[in-house]
Amino acid sequence: MLDLLLPQRCLVCSLPGEQVCGACRSGLRRIAPPLCERCGAPTAWPVRRCTECTGRRLAFVRARAAVEYDESVRKVVAAWKERGLRRLAAWAAEVVVEAVARPNVSCLAYVPGDPDRRLGRGHHAAERLASELSAAWELPLLPFLSRRRGSRRQRGLPQPERRRNVAGAFLVEGRAPARVALVDDVYTTGATANAAASALRKARAGRVEVVTFARAIRIR
Ligand SMILES: [Zn+2]
Ligand SMILES: [Zn+2]
Repeated sequence: MLDLLLPQRCLVCSLPGEQVCGACRSGLRRIAPPLCERCGAPTAWPVRRCTECTGRRLAFVRARAAVEYDESVRKVVAAWKERGLRRLAAWAAEVVVEAVARPNVSCLAYVPGDPDRRLGRGHHAAERLASELSAAWELPLLPFLSRRRGSRRQRGLPQPERRRNVAGAFLVEGRAPARVALVDDVYTTGATANAAASALRKARAGRVEVVTFARAIRIR
């Protein structure tokens, strides 16, 4: 509601007008090849594994993201999540469809939010993005993945702890479909996506891809 009443400004540059103005939209740092085939990190030439993911056991076959998680994108994602700006999901899905090829799967799932923190927010970015992508890619969205109660927040934890913290945080109802793409808003270290993918694999999904709106670029 507030969304409609307040004079709207660009979330990045504060210019009155759209939620993300045309200039800021074209200024998004899109992630383009060459990439690491596995985790989707930009690389100097195409590689199967990169410095970021070599030696890590990854439950997904590939992860792809539309834009770099830089300062501008951070502002947009923060507003999207914290203020529940619904129209941003459709906007982010458009950006994803432009940049990321339709995954080779039969359905979509999203990385579920923490049930302990969901109350009062009424808006889950990954779920809304997945629902928009489901329409755009004509892939059914199946809500078979859930999160156990009582897991700690990822934010602020060092990387090895992040991995330990999320391992086992997800539950799958019944048997997972054979080929699934997991949707999330941001790929940071990949720990969350990997834990969710791992739960799907345990529930007998043969192929799990990961699609996110943004991705943190940690190594250049
Ligand atoms: Zn702007
Ligand atoms: Zn990689």
